[in-house]
Amino acid sequence: MVFTPADVNIARVQTQLETLSQFGRQPSGGVTRYTFSPEHVQATNQTADWMNRAGLTVGYDRWGNLIGRTRQDGRLVLSGSHLDSVPNGGNYDGVLGVIAALEAVTMILERGLTTQKPLGVISFIEEEGARFHGLMGSKLAVGRMSADEIAALQDRAGVRYEDALSQIRFSYPATDMDYQAGIDAFLELHIEQGKRLETAGMPVGVVTSIAGPNFMQVAITGQADHAGATEYEDRHDSLLAAAEFIVALREMAVERFTGRGHMTVGRIEAQPNVTNVVAGKTIFSVDYRAADEQTADEMTVGIHDLLREICARQRVTFETALVHQTAPVPAADRLRAAYEQGAKDAGVPYQHVVSWAAHDAMNMAVVSDAAMLFIPCRDGRSHTPEEYAKPEDIAAGIAVLANAMVALAG
Ligand SMILES: [Zn+2]
Repeated sequence: MVFTPADVNIARVQTQLETLSQFGRQPSGGVTRYTFSPEHVQATNQTADWMNRAGLTVGYDRWGNLIGRTRQDGRLVLSGSHLDSVPNGGNYDGVLGVIAALEAVTMILERGLTTQKPLGVISFIEEEGARFHGLMGSKLAVGRMSADEIAALQDRAGVRYEDALSQIRFSYPATDMDYQAGIDAFLELHIEQGKRLETAGMPVGVVTSIAGPNFMQVAITGQADHAGATEYEDRHDSLLAAAEFIVALREMAVERFTGRGHMTVGRIEAQPNVTNVVAGKTIFSVDYRAADEQTADEMTVGIHDLLREICARQRVTFETALVHQTAPVPAADRLRAAYEQGAKDAGVPYQHVVSWAAHDAMNMAVVSDAAMLFIPCRDGRSHTPEEYAKPEDIAAGIAVLANAMVALAG
């Protein structure tokens, strides 16, 4: 029993996308939907209604995530994403993953198929981190936050997450969800947020791994001196060393890590940051992310090699601190295989891609096999009102997702 893109009710999908885009619509055409804002609750309750109408048992877990499932017993083959957005974001990031999962399960149910394992659809709260904390709904679900950390979560206005949660009136009852043992597979469809699929003319990308972001802080210490009176050979210019490093980092990233990782200096601060003073100290960030752990290790070594060489030459010293480290998450082999077979069955061409952005699937991989499926988005753009995915690519992605879910659920 296979689904092809023609089996997808694309009119229904587009109506649902259009309906959700009204919740939090900005004058610019973008969407602002912060977690637990009235717009977010409306969008989530609306989605819950659609799940209910499709025949799913619907409820909210203790964190505020929305779940619908075909049966209560057994380990779930679960798919979904998130309905919260960045400020003035688009209408596909996250939303499409929820609606795609709903459509896939609806197609399966409408065809009268019963699966050995139950099927589920989920919408996580607070993936974007625009209000409380990034990837929060899935992080809470899989038990990656302590009670103290949860109690400390608050938005910029000082509203605590736990207080905001307790004040919401969801339109469906609370549900018990055993994330630790209750999930057999987690599948997430998402727009690519890059241009590789679009450039290649591929409707679908099977994600091989989700890159893990690492944030390093580098402090270069030299000596503050008079910018006019100090000869070049006497200077210990921390900002000059940082500038050399930034250029060298890019060269290294392109030469050694193309296709395997990305490296970026995005923030810099010179001290004393005064026009007529050689910078005594310069602090900057390095964001580096790799498709696999070995590459991440090579990058860490590469960064230090560059710093040693440049700082010795500029007669300055350096210190590094890894502020944040996330290991890359490889896709579970059997899920990847299910996507690939699902694409072949659907007659949909695909290619392998790395996810360079973080997603809820990274957290779900802690408790379950997890793997992502990408579809192209126009010009690779996301987190903007211009975000757009073509209906034919959406249909292709949903057909592949539905085939994978059927295969995995048996
Ligand atoms: Zn997203």
